[in-house]
Order: sequence, then structure tokens, then C-alpha cells
Amino acid sequence: MPRHVPIRQCVGCGAKRPKRELVRVVRTPQGDVVVDPTGRKAGRGAYICPSQECLELAVRSRRLQKSLDRDVTQELVAELARQLGTPAEE
Ligand SMILES: [Zn+2]
Repeated sequence: MPRHVPIRQCVGCGAKRPKRELVRVVRTPQGDVVVDPTGRKAGRGAYICPSQECLELAVRSRRLQKSLDRDVTQELVAELARQLGTPAEE
């Protein structure tokens, strides 16, 4: 029997990849949007490739906002970029 690998879709480029290759962004029950490196936080989540390109695409297309059902501020985008390990360009 094949091992079950959970697949998730990147809200940026739309690629379907194994969950562990993607970064989970979560809107917590408190309404904060944070990066969830463990993939275990409670809340509404979106998955994204760990790349600046996908982050920008996800925000510009508003797919990230839709997935989280919350608006995403520039500050948050910068914070996400930092946590993704790809600092945002000034
Ligand atoms: Zn992507």
C-alpha cells in the first residue's frame, strides 16, 4: 500500500506539493495571521511554497486573503517574508 502523503496547494503559484514542503500560514482563533512552522496550530490555514515569489503572488491575487478570510497588511507580508527566510525588498 502506498504511504499516504498529504498534498496541499500553494496559494501563490497553485502548485500541489507534499504538505511538508510548504509553509503553513494560519489565522489563529484570536485573529492573528502567523507562520506555523509546526503545521499544528489551530485556526484557518493556507499553504504556500517557501518563496518570496509565491508570497507576492498569493497576496497580489488575493488568494492568501481569501484562504484566511482576512485582509493582509504590508507589515504582515514583510513579517511573512522574514519568516519564510526571504527578506522583502525595500
Ligand atoms: Zn508556490
